[in-house]
Amino acid sequence: MKRVTLVWLILCLLLMGALMQACGGKEGEKDHEEALMAVTIVYDNYEYDPRLKTAWGFSCLIEGLEETVLFDTGGDSAILLGNMRALGIDPSGIDVIVLSHIHGDHVGGLFGLLAENSAVKVILPESFPANFKDEARAFGAELIEVHEQMEICSGVYSTGELGSGIKEQSLVIKTKKGSVVITGCAHPGVVNIVRKAKALLDTQVYLVMGGFHMLGMGENQIEAVIAQFKEEGVQRVAPCHCSGDLTRELFQEVYGEDFIEVGAGKIVELER
Ligand SMILES: [Zn+2]
Ligand SMILES: [Zn+2]
Repeated sequence: MKRVTLVWLILCLLLMGALMQACGGKEGEKDHEEALMAVTIVYDNYEYDPRLKTAWGFSCLIEGLEETVLFDTGGDSAILLGNMRALGIDPSGIDVIVLSHIHGDHVGGLFGLLAENSAVKVILPESFPANFKDEARAFGAELIEVHEQMEICSGVYSTGELGSGIKEQSLVIKTKKGSVVITGCAHPGVVNIVRKAKALLDTQVYLVMGGFHMLGMGENQIEAVIAQFKEEGVQRVAPCHCSGDLTRELFQEVYGEDFIEVGAGKIVELER
């Protein structure tokens, strides 16, 4: 009798083990199926991955959306393409290039990139100079000129041209936890961009990433902006490019774990 009980016990344990493994496998698959998007900073003046070159400017690649979107191109196509190579990113995989504003540190990499892949849509502010648009078209790229807010692909929006001086568009991406806002230089004011994003999707802002244009601001001014971010309910921040060291420090003090340190080579994964 005892031996029979022991055999049953062993069989039960084996069965439990198999069941646990099966469940574990399913969970793993579920994780894999969960919709994720990844934002990779491919160009920035802040360092993150030492294999990448840093230079003044900004560019990030957003994967996991309906289309693969490159937001801004940095100032130099050789650095942009070199950084992409170092990260294993194939330029031919890019479907859409969004340009935030006309400054060279955001658009300087475009033509070199179009020479590698011109089968893209370039979404740029309507106010860009005609010769810039002509040159982009000459590569064979399809241009889409933005004035008002618009949907770029499923769940991805442009704020439209904002600002009275330098016109700039920012990206707003719909995610489960709220919108993700990506800014180039934030010339129209980063808080104004946050407010526009909130109105555009009628949701909370989960993350603001990119250049905040706060370099050279004093402590009081920066603290006032951080207070406005809190008032607007911005949950996480990832300032880089033209945000400034002091801005990054002060945001980190207030936001703690919700401050994401980004620079060239940083990959931020987000649930869609
Ligand atoms: Zn600028
Ligand atoms: Zn800039």
